[in-house]
Amino acid sequence: MQIISKIVIASHNAGKVREIGELLAPFGFDVVSAAQVDIDEPEETGLTFAENALLKARNSSEKSNLIALADDSGMAIPALGGAPGIYSARWAGENKDFSVAFSRIEKELKEKNIEDINTTRASFICSLCLYFPGGENHIFEGRIDGTLQFPPQGEKGFGYDPIFIPDGYDITFAQMDHDKKQLISHRARAFKKLVEFLESRK
Ligand code: IMP
Repeated sequence: MQIISKIVIASHNAGKVREIGELLAPFGFDVVSAAQVDIDEPEETGLTFAENALLKARNSSEKSNLIALADDSGMAIPALGGAPGIYSARWAGENKDFSVAFSRIEKELKEKNIEDINTTRASFICSLCLYFPGGENHIFEGRIDGTLQFPPQGEKGFGYDPIFIPDGYDITFAQMDHDKKQLISHRARAFKKLVEFLESRK
């Protein structure tokens, strides 16, 4: 069994690297980002969140010869065949303008003659991949289900947060306190599974 000490986070997103670093800090891992060890991010050519997380983690591990951790996440709307799904970031366009993605969702749902858009089901999904030099890898997935909210509500959070109300709540992720969202989110749920795995390898 391989003892885990140093982990490269397969992301150039400083915010993501910081959050993941905070989550892993209690385990005493030495965390570095892909940018710090000069690794380019690969093209996300996978067809699922898990495939994209795997190809990002494999790329960083093979190039650094370290254990790598990658995440891939997004919103899935069953009434739109799972879209935007793995294309969640891309639906916001090059300028990362999420109002563009919201308008597209609204338009596509209207084209399907969905009368009350605010009863439409949606989920956030997060796949994490932990990849070891040599090829051993593990996927940890978390999701949270809810309904869509149009018009968008709330100023907190990021991305699709203003159009998502998690089940059991009557406010969007963008109206919820950050700490609360961090407890129940798809990412938190995937991390819980990762942490259980890391604990078992300590
Ligand atoms: P990735 O960084 O390539 O995995 O892209 C994830 C995309 O999904 C981002 O652009 C976000 O817009 C969206 N996304 C993932 N998690 C969340 C979340 O917690 N809230 C809002 N949007 C999210």
